[in-house]
Order: sequence, then structure tokens, then C-alpha cells
Amino acid sequence: MLSGVLNSPQNVPDDMSVFKGPQSPQTPQTGSPITSSPALKREVPVKRRSSSGTAPPLQFVDRFDRLEVHVGETAHLTCVFKGSSPVASCWVYNKKEVVESSKFHIKSSNESSSLVISKALPEDSGRYTIFVRDRKSSAQHTVTLNVIDLPQPPASCPVAHVLSPHSLVLSWSGPSYDGGSAVTEYVVEVCESPSATDQWRELTAQCKSTSLRVTSGLQPQGEYRFRVRACNAVGVSEPSQESQPIRMDNQGEPCDDKPVEYVTVTINTVDKLTDHYNVLEKLGVGKFGQVFRMTHKETGRVCAGKFYKGRRTKEREAARKEIELMNLLHHPKLVQCLAAYDNKAEMVMVMEYVAGGELFERIVDDSYEHTEVSSVGYMRQILEGIQYMHQKNIVHLDLKPENIVCMDRTGIRIKIIDFGLASKLDPNTPLKVMHGTPEFVAPEVINFEAVCPATDMWSIGVICYILLSGESPFQGESDTETLALVTAAQWEFDEESFQDITDMAKDFISSLLSKEVRRRMTCEEALAHSWLAYTSVDNSSNTTKNLSKDKMKKFLTRQKWKKTGKALLALKRMAILSKPEASASLSPVDETEQAMQSLELKLQCKPAFSKTPSDLTVPQGSRAQLSCLITGYPDPEVVWLKDSELLELQEECVKVDYEEDGSCTLTLENVSPHHTGLYSCKATNALGEALCSATVTVEKKDT
Ligand code: ADP
Repeated sequence: MLSGVLNSPQNVPDDMSVFKGPQSPQTPQTGSPITSSPALKREVPVKRRSSSGTAPPLQFVDRFDRLEVHVGETAHLTCVFKGSSPVASCWVYNKKEVVESSKFHIKSSNESSSLVISKALPEDSGRYTIFVRDRKSSAQHTVTLNVIDLPQPPASCPVAHVLSPHSLVLSWSGPSYDGGSAVTEYVVEVCESPSATDQWRELTAQCKSTSLRVTSGLQPQGEYRFRVRACNAVGVSEPSQESQPIRMDNQGEPCDDKPVEYVTVTINTVDKLTDHYNVLEKLGVGKFGQVFRMTHKETGRVCAGKFYKGRRTKEREAARKEIELMNLLHHPKLVQCLAAYDNKAEMVMVMEYVAGGELFERIVDDSYEHTEVSSVGYMRQILEGIQYMHQKNIVHLDLKPENIVCMDRTGIRIKIIDFGLASKLDPNTPLKVMHGTPEFVAPEVINFEAVCPATDMWSIGVICYILLSGESPFQGESDTETLALVTAAQWEFDEESFQDITDMAKDFISSLLSKEVRRRMTCEEALAHSWLAYTSVDNSSNTTKNLSKDKMKKFLTRQKWKKTGKALLALKRMAILSKPEASASLSPVDETEQAMQSLELKLQCKPAFSKTPSDLTVPQGSRAQLSCLITGYPDPEVVWLKDSELLELQEECVKVDYEEDGSCTLTLENVSPHHTGLYSCKATNALGEALCSATVTVEKKDT
């Protein structure tokens, strides 16, 4: 019948944490025999929780992928999950676990977790990953938060081209940060100049592109200043800088149609730039510095000046290298260097001014036709410029849409800019580089193999793909993913985006986006490709069909978003990736491991009873059952005691079932009066123990 294995209560170990249990396989039905003390080698009937594996794995039941809030609002990131409790959860942002602070409030239970971000700021935007774990499984989910704000003002002041005494064309650059929400339109304002009080009036509040033709409201010989505001879903930005006063006398800025004169530049180390040039508004910001519009003090010629930011020897050498290379690049499709200054205060390269802005910005403008034929025209010009470079054994190595700019606001002539990463190849020394922009860079760059003219051809293939479809062929969720897609040369023609595109165009792209360097077309081959023979007159309606600009607009918005501080990061990551020893241990793995370790700690808790057994009175010969529900992690081990003595489980009439969900039941079959007593369940794990008791009274049968 029943018998306590240990004879006296003091032999029941108090600190059950010494009961580590056997490491050898156990027989779950009979409990695990373990040694209670070295002196007394008797079996202690410890029971472990069953691990039948029937509990469903932890999963999210209510979650969302994206959340957009306005700046200053509260962001609620809530995920609901289902697992067997306890469930621990944590949020990770920027590779760190989010901790409670004045900014972040976390409310977690076994069923859900909410991360509340108060007074959200644009810098809080990003990917928040929730990791959840129960005793057997884990899961994770990422929510992308976008905190949107007013756009910044347009990056440059409007530039005017007077067309007639009554009309002009204004053009400007979009804001460098769109507030996280695409710019939908611009407000253009005008003010008579000079005037005692600045009275600005609206010319339009619905300009959908970055240029505007103004044909009314301007008087001959009148003088005007212009400014522009950007609008997005949040509202209207502050105004841009004002334009120079513009006189309506048809003597506006020259459109620079003059044939290019080529100069071989010697760097001026004596004079200051400002001895010869007036520096006007900022045109753009690049990797190596800022570019300003300038005018020559004597001739009035409009130029662009690239002000290099670094003053260290290495940076100066890089700037000098760019200028020296540009001295070798005298071609109408390549921007020309006109002068250079290097003195204590600054290093500046003066270039011809390219007035038309980025080609892709132009293409999305409603007033421009975008067809396969017009795209052929742009691709031909790019190839002509690059062919000239390749003939000189110079590679550009940074070909991407933003480095293809339009010569003016009306025509279709383009120029290639930014030779900051260009290099002359030496046939005897292979050149390996670690720079570029992930979406446009060729597989050999990421693999840190030698670059060659074909490296530029790959980027031309990517530009052409985007030009025709608005989709970026290698764009992944992250730079790491983009780089992985490029190294695998994994791309395809998206059916929907390419439905209107001719097979000839697709063949042109396929012949450039080949992983194998030798199989890519050269510039000569590309210029001879049949697709390049398409012109507006001699071709089928397919090639003159208007192509959709919507996807390209989205592409441009994404590029602007990326530009805000992320470009350098991408380069740094690429540097890490290209080191073979580093590529195996990318950060997301560490991040998950760290989160899991933190959750393991969070899950840990002392044993407790969420349900305790009730006192029982049963007739002799019947069955008595005491049930309780045990919580705690790591899973507590259990012993049952009768009147403080351990209960042996070997006998058929005494059974303990300890289920995966923590429910534990003691069953006594065929009870007789000596079963009457105080029964206790003791649950123990490394963090502590808990005890609960109930009495069983067996009533004698009347005979
Ligand atoms: P970096 O080499 O530092 O990356 P870029 O040469 O790409 O700089 O120039 C940065 C930005 O300045 C360009 O994206 C463009 O908007 C503007 N820019 C550069 N060169 C010219 C130019 N010659 N005329 C007009 N704008 C220019």
C-alpha cells in the first residue's frame, strides 16, 4: 500500500534546488529516481512535467506590419500572441532591447505586448522587432514605424529661365527630406522686387513637379523673386530660399547651348575662389562635399562649385585625383571641370553648370513624354559618355540615376556627373574597390574581385531597368538583402511592370545584367544593339507608348528617404560584408541570440500554484483525486507528501500525472481508512519552491 520512502520528515530535503535530477533518460510514468543525500541512497519519487509536445507552438494571432503616425503623436505597437504561459517578450530597436523610459512604455502579458512611443519623432522611425518565447518555442515579428513630419523646404531656391517679357520657367530641387511622406505638390510664391514690404502671393498651390511655366501675372521689365514650399500628407513646409531678383527682359540666365570648350585645369593654389567667383545657392550635397551655384565675377558665366569637405591629406589627394581624371575626360556627355582652387581654407572644383536637374526627376514631370523611344535616347547618350571613358581605360564606378543630369529644363540632352569614385585602370594591377551604392553596384565589387569596364555596364543595365519599369531590380528589404540579391545576380522581369516593354529592350537589359563579367555587353556592343536603333519615326506603336511614371515616382521618393544619412551606412556595411570572415556573422543573428537570452531570463520564475487542491471526503474503496496547477520556469519538479512524508509512486494504486500545461493530479485508487491524511504537493526549481496541501478523509463502509 502507501509508504513514505523516507522515514522521518527531516530527511525531506528543504532546498529542492539541490535536486538536479538525473541526466540520464527517465521513465516518465514512474518518476525519476534521484539521490536525496549521500548518506541515504533511497529513491525519491520526483516527477517531471510531461513533454508530450502536444502544445501548439507559440504564434502571433494579431499583428500588423506597418504603422504611420504624425510627429508628436503617440505610436502604439501592439502584438497579440498565443502560447503556453508563461510567455516572455521583448522589443528590439536598432539592435538593442527597448527598455522602459520616458519615451518608451512597455506593457506585456502572456497574451500580448504593447510598445508605446510617446511624442514620436522622425528619428524613432524604423523597424521594431518583437521577440516572444514560451517554455518550448519562440517567434518574432517586425513592425515598421514611420513617423511623418512636414517636408523640409525645397533644397534649392527656384532658378528662372525667362522665355519672353511675360513668361518664364521656374525650376527647383525637391526637399532633401520629405518628412517620411512623399511630396505630393509644391506651392510657388512670387514677390515683386524691390518692394518696401515683402508681399508674397501664391502663383499656384498645386504644382505636381519641380518646374513651373509661368505665363500670366508677370509684367515686362518687372522684377520678381520666387520661392517654393513642399506639401505632403502632414502639411506645407517652410519656404525655400528666395530666388535672385529676376527681371522680365528676356535676358535671363543663358541656357548654355554654347559648344563646350575644353580646358586642362591646373589647380590654383595662389588665389582664393572668391577672388574670381560669387558663390550663390546650394545645388546639392554629395559624398565628398557640397555643390553651389556660382557666377564668374568678370564674365558672369554660371558655374557649379564642388566644395570638398575634408582637409586631411588623404581627402585632398582624393579631390586632386578627381580633378586630374576630369582633365582626361573631355566629352560633351561628361560634365567638364573648368578650374580648381586649393588653399588653406578650402578645396573647390569649378564645373560647368548643368541646369536641368536629375534625369529621373525630369522624367516624372507631367509635361515630359516618357516612352521606350525617349529612353533609347537617354541610354544612347549615357553609353556615348561611358564609351569615351572606357576607351581611355577609365571606369566611373558610381553610375546611378542621380549622377545622370539634364543639361537644361526643356531639352533631352543629358550629362554624366560625379567622377569622385572614378579610376584609371592599370593593366598590370587589378583594381579592387569597396565602394558604390548597393542597388547599382556589380557583383564583382561586393565579392571584392577586380573591377573593369564591365562593372559600369552592370550599373547601366540597372539604370535602364529602372528607367523602363520604375522598379529597382535588386532592391531588398535591407542593404544586406540587396547585396545578397546582387551577388546571386538574382533578378527577373516583373510581369506587370514590363508588360508594355518590347522584347528587344528586355534583351538589352539581360545582356548587361549578367553575373559573368565577360558575358556583359561592352559599350560598343550596347550601342550596336538593335534596341538602340529605335527612333520615334520608324517604330511600332509599342515603343512610343507612354510608360507609367507612378513607380518611378515611388522609386525617387525612396531614394530621397535613403539619402538622409543612410548612404554612408550602406558603404560601411558593404565594407564589412566584403571581408569574408565577417560575412558569416551578420548582426541579425547576434540580435536574435541576445533577445533569446534576455527572454530566457525573463521567463524564469519561482514555482507557484495557480490552482490548489480542495479537501476531499470519499467512501472506502473509491478513487480520490487531488489536482493543482503549477507555474514556474524552468519547469518545476514535483513530489507529493502524505503527512510530511514522501509518497512512493511505484504502487499501482498511487499515480501522479503531471501534464505539459502544468496541471498535476495525484490519484489514489481503491482507498481505505489509512489513506486519510494531509497531502501536500511540493514544486521546486532553481529559483525556489512552493507547497500546497489538502486533506483526504476516507469514510469507512458500514458493514
Ligand atoms: P559627390 O561627388 O560629393 O557625391 P556630386 O558630384 O554627386 O557630389 O554632386 C552632388 C550634387 O550636386 C548632385 O547630385 C547634383 O544635384 C549637384 N551637382 C553636382 N554637379 C553639378 C553641376 N555641374 N551642375 C549642377 N548641379 C550639380
